[in-house]
Amino acid sequence: MKNAQFCKLSQLTIFFLASFLNINSHAFSCRSLDNDPLLKKVIDQIKSENIHLESCKDSKVHLTFDDGPSDKTTKPILDALNKRKIKATFFITTANLASGKPNINIKEQIIKNQLQSGHLIASHGHEHNSYDLRITNSREEGYSSSERKNQIAESVRLLNKATSSQFDKQSIKLFRFPYGRGAMPSQKEIEEMERMKKLIFKGESYAEKLAEYRRQSPALFQIADYNFSHLGWNLDSNDSSLPMSMPAENVVIDYVKENVQAMCNPKKDIKVALYHDIKEVNVRAIPLIADIGSCLGIDFISGQEMMAQKTSLTRDGVLISLKSTMKATVETVDEIGKLLNDLNKQNKQCPEKKSLAKTNTNSCYSEYLKKSFNNCEGQSSICYNGKWYGKEDPTIILNCGTKY
Ligand SMILES: [Zn+2]
Repeated sequence: MKNAQFCKLSQLTIFFLASFLNINSHAFSCRSLDNDPLLKKVIDQIKSENIHLESCKDSKVHLTFDDGPSDKTTKPILDALNKRKIKATFFITTANLASGKPNINIKEQIIKNQLQSGHLIASHGHEHNSYDLRITNSREEGYSSSERKNQIAESVRLLNKATSSQFDKQSIKLFRFPYGRGAMPSQKEIEEMERMKKLIFKGESYAEKLAEYRRQSPALFQIADYNFSHLGWNLDSNDSSLPMSMPAENVVIDYVKENVQAMCNPKKDIKVALYHDIKEVNVRAIPLIADIGSCLGIDFISGQEMMAQKTSLTRDGVLISLKSTMKATVETVDEIGKLLNDLNKQNKQCPEKKSLAKTNTNSCYSEYLKKSFNNCEGQSSICYNGKWYGKEDPTIILNCGTKY
């Protein structure tokens, strides 16, 4: 979505000029919708450091905000986004809405407003703890399976309560594990899982093991049970390293400059940017990042526009869609099917097994039940063309109907 109507004219002028003058000469001038005097200071710094901004044009960025809502900082950030017609995703930490917490009514109203103004509401869990092993300086932590289930259920309940059940009616349902753990374990954590025999990895490199982890993560399976896809991020604003309260002006200037610069990185198709709406710095910085970014041609896309690029997000490891989690289950069943077929082939000395293998091109053998199944037959899994599938797999629904 082009949200920079306010500076369309100046934007056109900039790119017209840029084509002659080379944008590196920084022949750009943007204006702040809030007449913020910091804008000029940020632009002056960008110019003085000769930062390359050629690739900003048409860079697609989706803004996400975690850990809110805060009754102090979320509303001004939301107002700034709405003023600029930028649609974000808010990953709510629902413990903020739990009984006994201050200003619950105000926070629930903020979430309603977010939804009504076209932002996505997503779950960041109930309490802000890790959904799988997380190694901190002094200890290992992470929810057990039953704790995770309770946390997800409580989060969904409170989000529906805050939104009069509109949360569940959103067409896009996203979850983000606190710290990303459960979807994005570190190398050290994967090694520790291996040592603890929590999961078995076949791959060698961290990337291979991370991919395997995602195919068998119990935490991901649990959120898939609630129809959630997991959305991580590939652009960290680094606001975690800043204090909760407003930092000094020079820190804000550097933060805005570095964030705009990161948004112009041409290496990624879509940037999913991680912010925290509980940090005061973002009250000051988000309007500036949005104004300078829009002026330079950055396209701040909505959650719907972002999810239309699923392939790219999945390839980049940012999105682990509900479908890919379900597919992973089917792959496992497939692997068992292949293994059994191989075993059947190895047993070809045995006349009965040989005839079974011969007739098996369109049937599947269940070692557990000691019998073969034809197309569209099965019990916990369904056979089709010699392979086992999950009952809800598109191949089964397409070829066998939805009788299961
Ligand atoms: Zn968080």
